[in-house]
Amino acid sequence: MQQETLAPSGLGELDIDLSEDDAAFAEEWMTWLDTHLPAMHEKLADAGRDADKQALARDWQSQMAAGGWAAITWPLEFGGRAATARQQLIFYLTSAERRVPPLAGRIGINLCGPTLIAHGTSEQQQRFLPPMLDGRHVWCQGFSEPGAGSDLASLRTRGVVDGDSLVITGQKIWTSGAQYADWMFALVRTDPDAPKRRGISFVLVPMTANGIEVRPIRQISGDAGFNEVFLDEVRVPLTNVIGELNGGWNVTRTTLANERAILFMGQQMALTATLRKAITMAKVADPQGVRAADDPHFRDRIAQAWIDVELVRLNGMRNLARVLAGKEPGPEGAMSKLFGQHVEQKLHELALDLGGEFAILDRGAPDAPNRGKWALGWLRTRASTIGGGTSEIQRNVLAERILGQPRDPWADA
Ligand SMILES: Cc1cc2nc3c(=O)[nH]c(=O)nc-3n(C[C@H](O)[C@H](O)[C@H](O)COP(=O)(O)OP(=O)(O)OC[C@H]3O[C@@H](n4cnc5c(N)ncnc54)[C@H](O)[C@@H]3O)c2cc1C
Repeated sequence: MQQETLAPSGLGELDIDLSEDDAAFAEEWMTWLDTHLPAMHEKLADAGRDADKQALARDWQSQMAAGGWAAITWPLEFGGRAATARQQLIFYLTSAERRVPPLAGRIGINLCGPTLIAHGTSEQQQRFLPPMLDGRHVWCQGFSEPGAGSDLASLRTRGVVDGDSLVITGQKIWTSGAQYADWMFALVRTDPDAPKRRGISFVLVPMTANGIEVRPIRQISGDAGFNEVFLDEVRVPLTNVIGELNGGWNVTRTTLANERAILFMGQQMALTATLRKAITMAKVADPQGVRAADDPHFRDRIAQAWIDVELVRLNGMRNLARVLAGKEPGPEGAMSKLFGQHVEQKLHELALDLGGEFAILDRGAPDAPNRGKWALGWLRTRASTIGGGTSEIQRNVLAERILGQPRDPWADA
């Protein structure tokens, strides 16, 4: 199979018309990448594990912000580009193609930023958005709790109004990047007597506040991607509440909608890049001179993987077409997540089989193909069917919204 046939990431494969503005956008982005990306790739290749990479990701974000590329969907007045859906597609596809590194503050930019833009006061916007944009402040998302994940509205972390402050006590869990974050956007229960979705507030909490303890959760990969965050009478000013006090559930809907809307593009980036790498590995001969790419069994599995990635792309394009036509994203988002993450897991299984015993070597091992990506990726993809809404929850969405099944009784409980 030729690499050139991998339609998903080639700009030339975009089945949409590009306006003059879109073409100018693409050209400016490519030119900027030509100038800045090679040096960052070199630095990343030399970096060690978590902490080094964090510093580099902040550095990369400040460069992207200076170039106007850190938050392309934000309005111009806040340092974004108000990118159209087509431009976002160009941006994400070329990011996959060129292996553009992730931003340190992507959780803030993708989730908290749009929420602040939609619901924050102008003082809140002016205070929080500029350092969020350029990576001076990295954010984490304090939503999940030990008893509140899929059923987020059951959260129990309390926020008690005391004068002009909110005093917060409770526990968050699975908080990605909290150990590096400067700020957390959190949901807290400010009215325990109200129906569960009506007594919640959306609040911004500095991670340096007294009473916060962050305990990294060490995963099977050896990394600590997420954390427990304990809050013991953490005092924040009421001016850090976004939207109305007790009106946080409505505010959260913006955050969650953004989590879903950007999902397919990010997923597309990762799947295409992963498939390309797996195919490249299949073409490398082992010490006996055998290439997996010549084995009919592997050729069959590679072809199936290509079809699967293509299906994820086409379904994503279907969702995009709705957005381009000015409609709300549909349940295709749930389909993309459910199927895409199943495909992602299968791709890593295929890659491990293609690479044989070398592919299970971890980062740091001299013979590990793709610097140990495969063993780590296989472990990581176990989590992807949980984070951002589990596969069972996506199936509920599809059952209700596409198949017309009765509503999940737990959702109303
Ligand atoms: C890699 C990763 C990063 C994360 N990062 C963050 C973060 O930064 N901030 C944050 O706040 N959270 C984060 N999370 C947490 C994530 O949002 C939750 O794990 C997710 O919402 C599921 O909640 P839970 O783990 O409590 O599982 P539960 O909701 O307790 O679910 C347990 C099981 O029951 C099933 N289930 C639950 N309800 C239903 C139902 N109604 N119908 C059918 N089946 C059901 C689930 O599918 C699952 O299999 C992250 C998770 C992962 C894996």
